[in-house]
Amino acid sequence: MIVLKGVGASDGIAIAHLNIESNNVQACEKRLIKDVELELKRYETAREQAICYTKTLYEKALADWGEKEAEIFKSHEMMLKDKDYCSSIEQIITQENSNAEYAIQETSKQFSKIFSEMSDPYMKSRAIDVMDISTCILNSLFCQDDSKILRQFSNSTLLFKNDFAPSEISSFDKKIVKGILCSEGSTYSHTSILLRVMKIPSVVGIKDKPDDSLNGKLTIIDGSTGEVFIDPDDATLKFFKSKKQEYKSFYADLKSVRGKPSITADGQLIKLYANMNNPDEIEEIIKNDSEGIGLVRSEFIYLGRKSFPTEEEQFKIYKEIIEKMNGKEVIIRTLDIGSDKRADYFELPKECNPALGYRGIRVCLEKSEVFLTQLKAIYRASNYGKVSIMFPMITSIEEVNEIKNHLKTVKEDLKVKNVPFSNDIKIGVMIETPAAVMISEELAKEVDFFSIGTNDLTQYTLAVDRQNSKVNSLFSAHHKAILRMIKMVVKNAHSAGIEVGICGESSSDESLLETFLALGVDKLSMSSHSILKTRKLVLASNVSKIKKNILSNL
Ligand code: PEP
Ligand code: MG
Repeated sequence: MIVLKGVGASDGIAIAHLNIESNNVQACEKRLIKDVELELKRYETAREQAICYTKTLYEKALADWGEKEAEIFKSHEMMLKDKDYCSSIEQIITQENSNAEYAIQETSKQFSKIFSEMSDPYMKSRAIDVMDISTCILNSLFCQDDSKILRQFSNSTLLFKNDFAPSEISSFDKKIVKGILCSEGSTYSHTSILLRVMKIPSVVGIKDKPDDSLNGKLTIIDGSTGEVFIDPDDATLKFFKSKKQEYKSFYADLKSVRGKPSITADGQLIKLYANMNNPDEIEEIIKNDSEGIGLVRSEFIYLGRKSFPTEEEQFKIYKEIIEKMNGKEVIIRTLDIGSDKRADYFELPKECNPALGYRGIRVCLEKSEVFLTQLKAIYRASNYGKVSIMFPMITSIEEVNEIKNHLKTVKEDLKVKNVPFSNDIKIGVMIETPAAVMISEELAKEVDFFSIGTNDLTQYTLAVDRQNSKVNSLFSAHHKAILRMIKMVVKNAHSAGIEVGICGESSSDESLLETFLALGVDKLSMSSHSILKTRKLVLASNVSKIKKNILSNL
């Protein structure tokens, strides 16, 4: 048995035969051609076919998954029409009298190198998209029609490759492709996002690529732990078969906790809310019986576009979310742009340490027009349900005072214009910097609730970049420093009579649930698919018995 370790990108257990693929786009040796015009025509026809193919993939993804995921293929189409990319290929053909295949491969290498050397992880992961569109043109040149490009496998399989392009993933039949293994890749790539949406168990970043001789061997992957077992022994196989079964029945059983209050066996109530990264998630949020939305990451409105969203555009989006939640609380976090989330039209400066720089509330307080536009849209939408607003990256009381002045302006403006808004909007702050923790006693007197962002709080407290895979193993909300901070924040919140929730990834960490209950956290906000699982654990918990023990260790 060979054991490999990577990073779990999409959870679940898959057991099937291993299929190790070569990552090489068909080798495209340079050939001198006589008729440049003809070669340009060959390339142009292939590029047009690739655009058609990408459009087909867009329609398929739209029907299967929805707008957000299908967007990938819209961006592929744009890349296929990109002037710089196209003229680079044409120039190589004309200036070097070379065949189109070579010109495409060279251009693909150059462009993907440029992307992969960028420091922004989002831009970095665009390298695979360039390779993907280049492969599409090459496949067209090799006279492969669309149906041949779509991957065909006769038996269920686990695919191993350096990395997969989004178009490959989208063409897979889930009944056949049971799991995905990559030696490269990151959880930020479009590929990983699609794998999670398709619920295909996957492990990425596996350092040791298996030898080709292991092709066809029975293999197990555990997408939650990132473990891979090639040619497993009987005991391991038995263990994972039963783990797979447990996993299946566990998720099937979860239906039974729908509609139940999230209350421990000894009577402690905790609210289980959902995080929302884009509006397409609303159906899943409702399906998973979320008690509210604890974090609307409003950045989705600003990213992936060329100009600022108007008040009207934003109002419509918030209103739709709020109405669909039908009276349940929706906590909208104001724009947290900067660091890894960037949009050109903001003209954010290049920074050496963007996570410590111009982001979140700092941007909003400086660009007050942008901030006021968002606040007005939220206030108008508050008329249609139960809305709370919270602010990211707070480090001082002065920031809260400034925010309050803006809120006052917004309210006065709407009143003058006779625009209705709710009089019961709760105002909260995210506790995600060590500074906010240390002044939480004072902050608690200024706001209606706290929401602890353990992702950034862990990054800033432990001095561990949350995007740097090199220090990934040091990133842990289990660290005593973080748990003590949460303890302190809960104490200060409760002394001031306000609620405190957690909305970082740790909120769905099963092994921290009892600690959060013992600390008295009022609300956990998480990815919606973890809500029923967490409720089931809450129902089975008995905190009074273990509380003393947990608290004495912190
Ligand atoms: C956090 O920092 O924990 C958080 C929820 O905010 P984000 O992940 O959007 O930075
Ligand atoms: Mg944060």
